[in-house]
Amino acid sequence: MEFTLPTDPTFSDAATIARVHANPGFGVHFTDHMSRVEWTADQGWHDAAVVPYGPIQLDPAAAVLHYAQEIFEGMKAYRHGDGSVWTFRPEANAARYARSATRLQLPVLPAADFLASIEALVRLDERWVPAVLDGRSDDEGVDDGRCEQGHSGGGQGEQSLYLRPFMFAREAYLGVRAARSVTHLVIASPVGPYFPGGVEPVDIWLEDEFSRAAPGGTGAAKCGGNYAASLQAQAKAAEHGCSQVLFLDAVEHRWLEELGGMNIVLVSADGELVTPETSGTILEGVTRSSVLQVGRDLGLTPVERPVAWAEVVAGVEAGRFTEIFACGTAAVITPIRAIRSNGGELVVPGSGEVSLRIRERLVDIQYGRAEDTHGWLYRLA
Ligand SMILES: *Cc1c(COP(=O)(O)O)cnc(C)c1O
Repeated sequence: MEFTLPTDPTFSDAATIARVHANPGFGVHFTDHMSRVEWTADQGWHDAAVVPYGPIQLDPAAAVLHYAQEIFEGMKAYRHGDGSVWTFRPEANAARYARSATRLQLPVLPAADFLASIEALVRLDERWVPAVLDGRSDDEGVDDGRCEQGHSGGGQGEQSLYLRPFMFAREAYLGVRAARSVTHLVIASPVGPYFPGGVEPVDIWLEDEFSRAAPGGTGAAKCGGNYAASLQAQAKAAEHGCSQVLFLDAVEHRWLEELGGMNIVLVSADGELVTPETSGTILEGVTRSSVLQVGRDLGLTPVERPVAWAEVVAGVEAGRFTEIFACGTAAVITPIRAIRSNGGELVVPGSGEVSLRIRERLVDIQYGRAEDTHGWLYRLA
């Protein structure tokens, strides 16, 4: 698939981009262009182009606005020390995008075209990929004694360009069936280090009323509807002073699943990395799979199996589980300080040392500072 480029592209001036890079936030500022491919049942995929970023025209009857036929992906472009720009395991995102599309009755965008849509955008808007700054915050003597609680790492080495491919039903039709016209877009947003002051452990809320996904549902698909369904639980978590929700299985409310947008991993005292197995209700995170592999590289033993909440409580109290963390593209690894529930607060005692070691290795691979032994990096520019 060849992407048509604008004949006379215009860009934000360097000062504007520098100002955004200095204080990017998350998903607030967008680059000058976006990739777009249209699909219709008659023509298939067509009209691949990189166009100026801007509002899209949608008929008020567009199916996505009524029946949420939509999927998305989340990836990052990283600038390496030599100025080159790379992304991480994009083939895995392309494959997941295809699985999500199939579940939502959207057309599958072939992996090569998915990659081309990202490459074309990042190449044109390359100036928006933040430059690497020297060193990381933990090299700069930012040490106020918090390292013992597991705060360190992260910081200034971690700015990137967040990439958001998404696909939605554009057809103006209120009947309930798969749309016959669909749009795939890629937008990009510069993001700063998720933890500017060093990695901060978070408190999470164990949700015992609302479910994120049920067997046979869309839990394994990356679709907007899953997020809409998680927002009420998220609000409840905030009321309890927690930044994230931990969902249990929808049937027995007994088994760990995942957070609203991150997978969960437990570190055991005897060197296991334990994570709930994915069996249709859990999103198969690229970070999750990478964390398990990096853990193996570091001498740990990855274990994917059902994990009961009762086992977590007993295991933490007995010192068998020493660390718990969440993982996903945005924050890579977020250590969990405590899990609150109607039953009280379970404080994870560990230093976060193993979590941070895995995090650092993964981030070093992404930024080209550690050897990419698994062939995970993909050059964009
Ligand atoms: C995207 C997502 C994740 C994390 O996936 P990554 O590929 O690691 O970014 C986890 N859970 C849910 C529900 C998600 O949507």
